Amino acid sequence: MAPPKARPGVLQITPYDGSEVGAGGANRIVISSNESAFGPSWRAMEAYSASSEEMHRYPEIDARSLRQALADKHGLEVERIICGCGSDQLIDLLALAYAGPGDETVYSEHGFTMYPIATRGVGATPVAALETALTADVDAILDCINERTRIVFLANPNNPTGTYLGDAELRRLHAGLPDDVLLVLDAAYAEYVVAPDYDPGVALARETSNVVMTRTFSKIYALASLRIGWAYGPREIIEILDRVRPPFNVSTPAIAAGIAALSDDEHTSRARDLNAEVLPWFTSKIEEMGLAVNPSVGNFVIVHFGDEGRAEAAYRFLFERGVVTRRVAGYGLPEWVRMSIGKRDEMQDVIDALRAFVGAT
Ligand SMILES: *Cc1c(COP(=O)(O)O)cnc(C)c1O
Repeated sequence: MAPPKARPGVLQITPYDGSEVGAGGANRIVISSNESAFGPSWRAMEAYSASSEEMHRYPEIDARSLRQALADKHGLEVERIICGCGSDQLIDLLALAYAGPGDETVYSEHGFTMYPIATRGVGATPVAALETALTADVDAILDCINERTRIVFLANPNNPTGTYLGDAELRRLHAGLPDDVLLVLDAAYAEYVVAPDYDPGVALARETSNVVMTRTFSKIYALASLRIGWAYGPREIIEILDRVRPPFNVSTPAIAAGIAALSDDEHTSRARDLNAEVLPWFTSKIEEMGLAVNPSVGNFVIVHFGDEGRAEAAYRFLFERGVVTRRVAGYGLPEWVRMSIGKRDEMQDVIDALRAFVGAT
């Protein structure tokens, strides 16, 4: 008898590459997952601990109090916000609700791999639009749109390239899309971006009927293990997502820690300021070694090692010296290695290790 067989789209999924997860430990510098180097706010840790008394109770069915805190903080309408078990879940739910067999979704060539994974998971086909200078290309994305297109996914800024589209380009992209194509703006790194022409997509999501912005607590808020994401969009779309959202999808400790993290502006600003300081310093030190760094507005960079073999050698060399980075071959970038921006002293150790690598090769 034949064993159960998964649906064709599922069989085409290349699993998410998080191989270094768990490679941490004493004396290791883990700069592989773009987590915050500065840790969460004390307020979040305290709120998390205090919530343990409620462990036997189901959480709020729809994370209402966290949605309210987000609405208050960002000046948004609470009924237009949905929370997810990470923003990854919201990407999944968007694909589930809006795409299926025979449909296509469009994402940029070196875009976040959750988009093709979520797309294939629902039996639709992901279409990669070519990038220009490792940056999403509005015209190339628009060239991929046809009557089968249901969703355009854009990480802005993008992981792993670190590049972004300014507000004018985002609006040009939106203006070129048919009304029935959903534009998902994934602004996971929004809080780090200091560029004046950057907008995470709040205005487009508010003013139009086909734009959803997704955000996360996994990056600047440093709550990656609690799995909290959120999305803001037209009420009709949020209502649709609520139909496919599992009930109780955000836990009570996550809700409590998320609300507390939002209240600690000082902590968030410090994380942003430290990143804004260490990112250009680290970049210039790497460039001094003769390695190219792609300009990034996030809390990570990709470093070019010339060819795939040297990128793998650098990854291993660093790993053996306790520095855990991320290969990005799965993103179509085999010659590059991604490194998150950690604390200055950690990054000094990374620089020293890289100097040793460059000197030895
Ligand atoms: C890290 C990241 C996310 C966040 O995912 P969570 O599920 O919220 O942890 C989303 N999009 C991009 C582009 C990311 O790099």
